[in-house]
Amino acid sequence: MGELEVYEGTATIEKVAALGRRRGFVYPSSDIYGGLGSAYDYGHYGVLLKQNVKAEWQRAMVQERDDIVMLDSAIILHPQVWVASGHVGGFSDPLVDCRTCKHRYRADHIGDAACGRRPSKHPGETADCDLTEARAFNLMFETSIGPVRDEGSLAYLRPETAQGIFINFKNVTSSLRVKPPFGIAQIGKSFRNEITPGNFLFRTREFEQMEMEFFVPPAESVKWYEYWIAERRRWYLDLGLRDTHLRVRPHDPDELSHYSSGTSDLEYLFPIGWSELEGIANRGDFDLTAHAEASGTKLEWIGHEERYVPHVIEPAAGADRATLAFLVDAYDEEEVGGDERTVLRLHPRLAPVKVAVLPLIGKDDGLVGHARPLYEELRKVMSAEYDDSASIGKRYRRQDEIGTPWALTIDHQTLEDGTVTIRDRDSLAQERIPIDGARALLEDRLRQPWQPR
Ligand code: ATP
Repeated sequence: MGELEVYEGTATIEKVAALGRRRGFVYPSSDIYGGLGSAYDYGHYGVLLKQNVKAEWQRAMVQERDDIVMLDSAIILHPQVWVASGHVGGFSDPLVDCRTCKHRYRADHIGDAACGRRPSKHPGETADCDLTEARAFNLMFETSIGPVRDEGSLAYLRPETAQGIFINFKNVTSSLRVKPPFGIAQIGKSFRNEITPGNFLFRTREFEQMEMEFFVPPAESVKWYEYWIAERRRWYLDLGLRDTHLRVRPHDPDELSHYSSGTSDLEYLFPIGWSELEGIANRGDFDLTAHAEASGTKLEWIGHEERYVPHVIEPAAGADRATLAFLVDAYDEEEVGGDERTVLRLHPRLAPVKVAVLPLIGKDDGLVGHARPLYEELRKVMSAEYDDSASIGKRYRRQDEIGTPWALTIDHQTLEDGTVTIRDRDSLAQERIPIDGARALLEDRLRQPWQPR
């Protein structure tokens, strides 16, 4: 079967952004000041969703393994870190200006960009276009440390979390029980002064990364590179991404970064086309060697009978970009009984709210007397929501739009036989279960593998 070329589904980036705003996932940042282009603030459900994405990453990378440890390094590091890593000299994109429309473009993305005056054309395609030569634009945000702003106070906001890991190699190997092959994982904010941010959460100037550096004996690097490509692909599939929308794309030799002997992108078929979700790179010994030379500190593995500079395999993912992919993949519109329904078919472990507890009539003391205690029991072990407003249909719709997989409804039969209905977000099936068993049933379902669609 050939690869899909066009996104299949009802989602568009615009629809997902509109739902995100309407339902409290993601707001345009600095909205009341007219917005700050391509910066976003996460609302309640967005915070919960992104936290779940990061927690699932940490579960797979650290909790369910015994060879990876965590790190949380500073955002502002010694400026020499970025000289040694090559970022000061080379972390740049080729920038092109148009003297006519004053727009700026990434020279390597001209084919995807729209001319400032005639958006149906690409920059450079009309007689009026007047493009400058491409020049290198460094993407690092500069700041200064201390009260005096001079050359000696120059510092950078980190453009990736990886370097914080390399410079802690010695700390980690001398304080924790690790031995190659082993990894150091980090989740945190990174900053890049992108020339052309856009497509909602896809490319922003401030974003969160989930990166892991896996240190291996040099002879094993190819094996571990292949291993991590397969492992990371499986992670997205286990969390529900359609496999027809996920592919591995090895970089061509002329695309490779200076440090890499092999890189593959995991790409997702977004409504904007196939785009990078995560990069898996074989970085060799480039980073440890560069920091050892620049700092004068030996960065090597010393075993009983061996001594070497480990090679590094790096799966580098974006928490916001992954969140966008999960949202886009989950977004669906369908007709139910003549009504349009929008639903987020999120994997239950990613869903911001796992269960909604709904008394059929919000003002009925008998129903509330059962619903409140059930909700208070459930919220101790999972994210739960209590809703007694509006009609039951409206409440179901609201939960569908935020992706809540299950709703428990307390009605008059509950008072008679102690059962509640459990409604399934995807199949819309309703069954009656004993109220006493609800918690165990939901906990069990959250542990089960989940079949999307
Ligand atoms: P791109 O080619 O899209 O700019 P990159 O190859 O520079 O990405 P890496 O440096 O490999 O990206 O970063 C690893 C991951 O971090 C990316 O796969 C992506 O998920 C995320 N990421 C990078 N830049 C951004 C950004 N500006 N906004 C959101 N996420 C980002």
